Amino acid sequence: MLVNAADMLKKAEAGHYALGAFNTNNLEWTLAVLQAAEEAKSPLIMQCTAGAAKWMGSFKVCADMVKAAVEALNITVPVALHLDHGSYEDCFKAIDAGFTSIMYDGSHEETFQINLDRTKELVELAHSKGLSIEAEVGGIGGVEDGVTSNGELADPDECKQIADLGVDFLACGIGNIHGVYPADWAGLSFDRLGEIKAKTGDLPLVLHGGTGIPVDQIQKAISLGVSKINVNTDLQLAFAAATRKYIEEGKDLQGKGFDPRKVLKPGRDAIVARTKELMEEFGSVGKAE
Ligand SMILES: [Zn+2]
Repeated sequence: MLVNAADMLKKAEAGHYALGAFNTNNLEWTLAVLQAAEEAKSPLIMQCTAGAAKWMGSFKVCADMVKAAVEALNITVPVALHLDHGSYEDCFKAIDAGFTSIMYDGSHEETFQINLDRTKELVELAHSKGLSIEAEVGGIGGVEDGVTSNGELADPDECKQIADLGVDFLACGIGNIHGVYPADWAGLSFDRLGEIKAKTGDLPLVLHGGTGIPVDQIQKAISLGVSKINVNTDLQLAFAAATRKYIEEGKDLQGKGFDPRKVLKPGRDAIVARTKELMEEFGSVGKAE
């Protein structure tokens, strides 16, 4: 059975550790991340973007797959299925499909007021159905921006206004970026993180763009109140490297090496190993015991 992410993140905030929120792309990803969480005895947030859900067929295909996989693998750690970067419309679709947690990303709306109004509406809807909800203040930069090497810094007063709506956890830019970090990246702004934390109290904060941030910065961010770290690109790189190695070694050309289960296995194993490493870095190993 899937749970929402509110309780596990409250515990993480209080216990000064963070939970990785790992994006799934397909069956192999789902099974690998579940296996890692079970072996590490870590609570798990599995998340899915609208784009990945479309790739799988629909939000419902994703939700049914994750639920069935949790049962099939006899997973005992708590697992939440979270919508990553949902638009206003995506949130309704993910709720209908059986997700147990949603992120409404209103940071791209035309005005902050629209973000505020829609977050308020979706907090009420999510909570009426027993789901948890993440909101976002300020954009989170990406390498596609091309212009700046530094991520945005969220406005602490806006964070406070969104927090007061009753969101369960909040994404706020502190210089973090989606994708691979540029060589001249300035690093996380711990000053801004501290200012936001001072205004939002014990609300768990979310760090997006968890790939490639040096471990010491990750751990300092956790000590200052980050409780959820989104990981997407990191596992994609691990999967791609292992798959590349298999092909470059010509293993697909030996015997039945072309069997998709053989082709995909090194990548799947690499996701398990890397997810467990990250859980160790974030401090969530053993927290489901
Ligand atoms: Zn993100």
